[in-house]
Amino acid sequence: MNDGSAKNPKEADLFYEDLLARSKASGYHLNPDTGFVRALVEGLLTNIRRYGYAACPCRLASGRKEDDMDIICPCDYRDADLGEHGSCFCALYVSQDVAQGTRSLASIPERRPAEGSRRRDSVSVTGISRPSLPVWRCRVCGYLCARETPPETCPICRAAGERFELFLQGGPEQAGIP
Ligand code: SF4
Repeated sequence: MNDGSAKNPKEADLFYEDLLARSKASGYHLNPDTGFVRALVEGLLTNIRRYGYAACPCRLASGRKEDDMDIICPCDYRDADLGEHGSCFCALYVSQDVAQGTRSLASIPERRPAEGSRRRDSVSVTGISRPSLPVWRCRVCGYLCARETPPETCPICRAAGERFELFLQGGPEQAGIP
């Protein structure tokens, strides 16, 4: 039985280069410890083989994508942890001062809510008049856009379109529909 842990150095190289390029293009920083990042890349690749998606290498995934959507890398908690602690939970991504060596890392407390109290539905916004188009929010970085459907990829953090949630309903208001 394949446990998903088969190693392919070339695949890891390509994944690492792509991760580095996407991080740079979107203004994020990978941990300057390349060996550490490579180990996390192996963990992400193992999870892709095992589950079919890049579940966080530092957390226990359920194997059900709909339940793990918040911990598909980059997870929903990355930006908050970067702002507060200077790194994501795994320390794959770090803030600029950490990347430049002017700030040291400490342990990062788990921000993910316990099972049963995780938010699955879209956010609820009140007090704003209904826009002509639906507004979508990237759950990873908070980017908002008004369009009929979510973008394929977040233009800010490069998260996949499936990571968008409906932030505001669009179109004319109808009786009985908020
Ligand atoms: S951003 Fe960091 S903490 Fe979040 S899933 Fe990726 S490696 Fe894990």
